[in-house]
Amino acid sequence: MSTYLDYNASAPIDLRVLDCMVDVYKNSIGNADSRTHGFGEKARSVVEDARKQVATLLGISSDEVFFTSGATESNNIAIRGLVDYGKKNGKMHIITTAIEHKAVLETVKHLSENGFEVEFIKPGINGRVNAPDVLDKVREDTLLVSVMHVNNETGIIQPVKEIGDALAQRNVLFHVDATQSCGKLVDEIRGIKYNMLSFSAHKLMGPQGIGVLVLKKNRYKLPPVKNIMYGGQQEHGIRPGTIPVALVAGCGMACEIASTEYKENAQKAIDIKKAVLKEFDDSGIEYSINGDPKFCVDTTINVSLKGVSSEALMISTKQFCGVSNGSACTSKSYTPSYVLVAMGLDNDTIESSLRISWGAGTNKDEAVEGIRELLAVAKQFSL
Ligand code: PMP
Repeated sequence: MSTYLDYNASAPIDLRVLDCMVDVYKNSIGNADSRTHGFGEKARSVVEDARKQVATLLGISSDEVFFTSGATESNNIAIRGLVDYGKKNGKMHIITTAIEHKAVLETVKHLSENGFEVEFIKPGINGRVNAPDVLDKVREDTLLVSVMHVNNETGIIQPVKEIGDALAQRNVLFHVDATQSCGKLVDEIRGIKYNMLSFSAHKLMGPQGIGVLVLKKNRYKLPPVKNIMYGGQQEHGIRPGTIPVALVAGCGMACEIASTEYKENAQKAIDIKKAVLKEFDDSGIEYSINGDPKFCVDTTINVSLKGVSSEALMISTKQFCGVSNGSACTSKSYTPSYVLVAMGLDNDTIESSLRISWGAGTNKDEAVEGIRELLAVAKQFSL
């Protein structure tokens, strides 16, 4: 049996979420925007209940929650949706980091080809950008700062609290891609001052294909984000298109479960990390952790095994566990991880890097077993 240790790519659906979705598919048919019958009304109430569940998890009000198809779309709307406002107000400068997910990097790249100036802040070897490095770049014409909460490859927590506190005093919008932290660093997210926040439900054991863009109100006003697709008035026109009621319900249920279970999940994650690291120590293989463990979430390890090609190792150990290197979205061709490159790691370290990630659905013994088998193969490679 192969153990799934690639939760940062996608977490399995929680069976309680699945049950809730099946019930919606069976019993809450209809279009949530239909006004002419009770079927629409029922679907609408499912959507509004889910909106409340998301809002409770994030500690915000439900009219700040907008459903999208996932974090990629949320990031696109948060960033591209500001184009008109930026142009009208002479705010054409964007600050982000070199280690954002491609859903941010490619989007700002598109804007940079269309008149905007974009600056990319690099992390240190610890995997973390420095808040002052970001804040020092802010100018009068800065439209947006976009910084992820937790990096998907390294698990390193970025200083979004500090950045948000400082930006709240200035006329600059702040977007946080919280895809890897939502439902996990629950108290931390509640404490961040941001204008826009994105996540996908499937990273917290909800269904794939649904996500959220939070638009935080400031004195009753939403940030000046406009729709990037045209169509109906769903989600206040921010995200036109029929609302996928069962997916939304699944997203809401995943958020509700996370709201009540995140503390016990956090303890479980710590135990798994300890046990996995012990396997590395006991294996006798020379390894190094990428990114400063002090800033790392308890659900991820990015590790390099000296002298072992991670590509070869992953192929030879597929039957034992599913891990990854770099992000799944760019894994069709081998290119060294741009995140590890930006951190300044050398080629050998990057080529031997593995990302191991787990979550609430992981069984510790199975994780340990999978890693033990992987390390046994790695040992043969490094001889
Ligand atoms: N941002 C981050 C930090 C991610 O890890 C991911 C998924 N790997 C995304 C955005 C995009 O999420 P999705 O593919 O669900 O749209």
